Amino acid sequence: MLKIGLTGGIGSGKSTVAQIFEVLGIPVYYADVAAKRLMNENITLKKEILREFGEEAYSGDLLNRPYLASIVFKNPAKLATLNNLVHPFTIADAETWMLQQQSPYSIKEAALIFESNAHLHLDYVIGVQSPLPLRIQRVMERDKLSEAEILARINKQMDETEKMNRCHFIIINDEQELLIPQVVALHEKLLAIR
Ligand code: ATP
Repeated sequence: MLKIGLTGGIGSGKSTVAQIFEVLGIPVYYADVAAKRLMNENITLKKEILREFGEEAYSGDLLNRPYLASIVFKNPAKLATLNNLVHPFTIADAETWMLQQQSPYSIKEAALIFESNAHLHLDYVIGVQSPLPLRIQRVMERDKLSEAEILARINKQMDETEKMNRCHFIIINDEQELLIPQVVALHEKLLAIR
C-alpha cells in the first residue's frame, strides 16, 4: 500500500483537500490532531516534554497548552526542541496507522512533512499550493487573527516555493481552478501507480 504525504502552507487548504480524499474512500491521518493526542497520552513523550519544559507543561494528565504556547511562540529554539520531541512519535504513530489501512493508499496530512523528515517514510508527497493573499484572507476569517500574526507564522515556515518544488504532485487551490476534479484526477493516478 502506498503511503502519501499531503502538505502545504498555513491556509493553503490541506485539510480541505484531505477531506475530498476521504470522500473518495481514502483514509487520512491528520498529524496535528495526532500530535495533540500523543502529547496527552504517550507516557514516554510526556516524560520527555516534562524533562524539557518542567512540571508546568502539564496540568494534571493534560498538556498545559497555553503555558507551552507562551514559551514556544516567542522562542524559535524552544519551538524546534518541542517539534523535535514530538515528530518521531507522530512519524511512528502514522507508520503504524498506515500499515493497518486496507485501502490502495493512505494519506498523512501534515504542515511540516519535509521539516520533520516525515517524507523519508512516505512514497510520494502532494503539495497544496495557494496564492499568499488568499491564504492570509482564509486564515484571518477562520482563526480571527490579524494579517501581521498570520504573516509571522508563515515566515517561520519553510519557503513556499522550495516546499512545492519538493512535492511530487501539486494541487492548485486558488479558487480559480476547480479543486474536486484535480483531486479525482490525482486519486486515479495514485490508484494506477500501486
Ligand atoms: P492550516 O495549516 O492553517 O490548518 P490548511 O492548509 O489545512 O490550514 P484549510 O483549513 O483546509 O487549510 O483551509 C483554510 C480555510 O480556507 C478553511 O476555512 C477552508 O474552509 C477555506 N478554504 C480552503 N480552500 C477553499 C476553497 N477552495 N474555497 C473556499 N474556501 C476554502
